[in-house]
Amino acid sequence: MEDNANYKKAVDILSTISILKESFSINEIELFVKQANLQRYEKKVKIISKHEPAISIICLIAGEASVISNDRQLRILKGGDIFGESMFSEEGIRTADVIASTDVSVVIFTVEDYERLTKISPRIARKYKLFFEAIYEYYKKQDDKFFYVDSTKYLALIAHNEMKSSLVEFVKQHKESIQKFPLVATGTTGLLLHQTTGLVLARKVKSGPLGGDQAIGSMISTDNISGILFFRDPLSPHPHHADIEALSRLCDVYQVPLATNRPTAEAVLSYLSSTSLEGRRSFSPALTKYKESQSRIVQESV
Ligand code: PGA
Repeated sequence: MEDNANYKKAVDILSTISILKESFSINEIELFVKQANLQRYEKKVKIISKHEPAISIICLIAGEASVISNDRQLRILKGGDIFGESMFSEEGIRTADVIASTDVSVVIFTVEDYERLTKISPRIARKYKLFFEAIYEYYKKQDDKFFYVDSTKYLALIAHNEMKSSLVEFVKQHKESIQKFPLVATGTTGLLLHQTTGLVLARKVKSGPLGGDQAIGSMISTDNISGILFFRDPLSPHPHHADIEALSRLCDVYQVPLATNRPTAEAVLSYLSSTSLEGRRSFSPALTKYKESQSRIVQESV
């Protein structure tokens, strides 16, 4: 009796709030649920594990669950959400863990259930297969985007307003060697360089005072900056003084060559042009020591 009510609830949820509702009739959803099994999981229990064979599709009927991969939460699943579409994929393996964040009830549709459905109605079974294949491809693309990591090493170009003409001159003289690097620049500097020298940037960040210097700093921390040519104006006050300080501090932390005027720009450019990526890798003892002390703090606290 209780089971009947649960099946009815599952059909209700799947036909009103799940992605099935647009493409399948209530009868088709009923047929799907009838082949499947109802199951409950307690809070914190792992419902599926990454890398295990994908032998079922799971529809969440009540409660919440987390999709986790590489320690990152990719999605929060709620009533009506469906996961495990990789059952119909070529790969056929789970691409993430799903862990119950509350007590949950689910409908589990296995490979055997699919085979049974194929015998009852080949047309409807095929419709489900095509549908889940499409959903799997969609999520795969989303996840690929999510996990995309830019490993490019950019040369950053920045100039304060009073120094912009000086950087333009420098770039005109060294355009051939500068253009060999993937380039990133702060907003106004980038625009001006493009218009006056034709330099093509790979990336642009905001204007310095609007966060651009911080954005370049963040790129240093993700190992995306090979060097910086920052023509600084030493004789004017800057509203983003703290950002400029922070940027040069990160250059020291990560041992990134920073040129702040024309002669040092000559030196940095020639260094970057003549040394391989491997040859440039220089480790900061201070950084190594800091990382060790932080991992000790974590070890002592857990
Ligand atoms: P800008 O920013 O290129 O947008 O002028 C540079 C800066 O002032 O840091």
